[in-house]
Amino acid sequence: MSSREILFLDPVFTHNIWGGTRLRTEFGYEVTGSDIGECWGISAHEKGDCEIAGGSYAGKRLSELWKEHPELFGFLNCSRFPLMVKIIDAREDLSVQVHPDNAYAKKHENGSFGKTECWYVLDCEKDAALVVGHNASSKEELERMVGNGLWEEFIREIPVKKGSFVQIDPGCVHAIKGGLLVYEVEQNSDITYRVYDYDRLSGGKPRELHIQKSIDVIRAPARPMEKCVTDASSVPKNQWCALVACDSYRVWKLALDERLVFEQPYPFLQLSVLEGEGTINGVFIKKGMHMILPSGFGRTELAGKMEVMASSVGNCQDTQ
Ligand code: ZN
Repeated sequence: MSSREILFLDPVFTHNIWGGTRLRTEFGYEVTGSDIGECWGISAHEKGDCEIAGGSYAGKRLSELWKEHPELFGFLNCSRFPLMVKIIDAREDLSVQVHPDNAYAKKHENGSFGKTECWYVLDCEKDAALVVGHNASSKEELERMVGNGLWEEFIREIPVKKGSFVQIDPGCVHAIKGGLLVYEVEQNSDITYRVYDYDRLSGGKPRELHIQKSIDVIRAPARPMEKCVTDASSVPKNQWCALVACDSYRVWKLALDERLVFEQPYPFLQLSVLEGEGTINGVFIKKGMHMILPSGFGRTELAGKMEVMASSVGNCQDTQ
């Protein structure tokens, strides 16, 4: 077998009313505007399909590579590339939303996938919070609170800081708040039900809410706060530290200040450099770069002073 190459990706960007400028000013991405909400660092989604940045597959879309070269992704049994990796700059609050699970989405959303997602807080202000879960103790109370718009009572905010890691299962009410910079790994799906939008107007009108579907899928009571958030701000240096392993994905953090040699045993491994610079097998890499190590890539050496997040598919590869 010929030796495989690292797949470097060109990110795709979205402009959003709640977006800002930090993806340009802090991550160095060449994108204009003061409403840059999301960097899709690794994505094969139809609304933002990353191009391979160089090498034998230069210019190919990730979705094309997935179809034409399944060997690069371990011949995974999925109808499409299963994950997305984003960096999100929320200048203002995002709407409060919830995602269905695979079973509900399949039935009610034309065979789509549901969504599990997780956030790693890259930066935030002191006393920052995220919306994770709610305060209704039962499905009946949930219907009463949501049906009557008792948002202050309903919405649960949890305190976070730089380095907090948050797991958002399907059915978990959630929202990123203004001032947060977040790294996100999620299932490749855009099925989102908007529960509440802070009564904001967009173009003179409120954005559509999906109250009935939300009530259908929201889990009540919510998981306890401490089960949703962990502190991943300081981890042992120069080794991969597991942050989560669920059905949909696994995520690790690496705080590198010297070097690390490893071989990845997964169908593929997604890497994102979130701080600093260094090399991967001798090739210069820096903050803001995203890449995939294909199946069977072999010996990998990372060197330098960097914070790197890695992710791969989860325990249940056949659910998609
Ligand atoms: Zn979400």
